[in-house]
Amino acid sequence: MAGPTRCTFAHVDLDALQFNFRAISEFLAAQNGPAEAGHYRGTPPGIIAVVKANAYGHGAAATALALQRAGASMLAVADIEEGVVLRGAGVTAEILIFGALSVSDVEGVFDHKLTPTISTPGAARSLQAAAARRGVRLGCHLKIDTGMNRLGLRHDNLQYTLPEIVAGGNLRIDAVYTHFATADDPDLPIFHEQSARFDRALAALPALGVRPRLVHAANSAATLRDSRVWFDLVRPGLLMYGVVPPPLAATIPLKPVMSLRSRVVAVKGVKTGEIVGYGARWSAPKPGRIAVVPAGYADGLDLRLAGRGAVLIRGRRAPIVGSVCMDMIMVDVADVRVETGDEVVIIGSQESDRIDVREVAATIGSSPYEVLCRIGTRIERLYQ
Ligand SMILES: *Cc1c(COP(=O)(O)O)cnc(C)c1O
Repeated sequence: MAGPTRCTFAHVDLDALQFNFRAISEFLAAQNGPAEAGHYRGTPPGIIAVVKANAYGHGAAATALALQRAGASMLAVADIEEGVVLRGAGVTAEILIFGALSVSDVEGVFDHKLTPTISTPGAARSLQAAAARRGVRLGCHLKIDTGMNRLGLRHDNLQYTLPEIVAGGNLRIDAVYTHFATADDPDLPIFHEQSARFDRALAALPALGVRPRLVHAANSAATLRDSRVWFDLVRPGLLMYGVVPPPLAATIPLKPVMSLRSRVVAVKGVKTGEIVGYGARWSAPKPGRIAVVPAGYADGLDLRLAGRGAVLIRGRRAPIVGSVCMDMIMVDVADVRVETGDEVVIIGSQESDRIDVREVAATIGSSPYEVLCRIGTRIERLYQ
């Protein structure tokens, strides 16, 4: 039975999510890739919908199913466990696993029909051994490290690493991909260096016995920035959730998907000079009023919001004062007529104002990715 619903909750607009998925598809279809680059093969690229980390905090199962209904035929997650959750929820689309599987129990890949990434020789060995034991040929994506120096086979010594993987005989390389370290920073040359290295690696593959059906490289920022790296599929995460990676500007019409809402649970008066909250970091500059909102750092609100951030109440900005507590924040409502029960918007819009994820991230010196992922497990996600 459904228990009582806390007054702090995340609202997840699945229509907006599906709208964004379609908007990205239309953006990809409307652009004509530069013919001289030779990457673009005439058909618009498809989308690998990235739903790792509980779909960036939006709730993996509902998000994945909504994307599947919108036409997503491939999803991506971080590890086998996340893939198993999606299969349990009834997701039938192909599920790509980004993470390294070298020290994982890889049986789940077979039991739940997941598509692994080969990103280290160790992962290739354990997948090869497991596929051979079962007498199957396992479809995989191969990741090439073109300069991020995280996961992937190094771009410059594939002649040493690939032959063993190909010789095993039980791994079928369906796709080859890479990942950009600086797609969101137009000032750095690294993006173009990575792109050039990837082109050289792709050109070297046939001689090494690898002829992938599919090639992909672009995260949200690269998708926005450069159609030359679209290849057959792009891999947007943040964009689908309606957030453009900073500092890039929106060139696709997108709708924000998640909002974080609460209610005022107490209002009290404070006299001039009285302190508010742990550490006495704020005191009232004039006789005023404080509203208490039941959402704190256990719900993902960053400590640095105290003294910097604000929430919306009655369409007005109420500054977060004092300290962010585990379960509560206090906001200065000296200039707003507030009553217990009033709606509070922590992320989202109210009347004509809006506090978006990028603004919250900028306020605390973080990224929108972190702000979304940190929205706590105790916060109920309400879908519409
Ligand atoms: C997370 C991730 C993405 C998606 O990144 P966004 O910036 O959210 O679009 C794409 N590819 C890989 C390999 C990732 O890990």
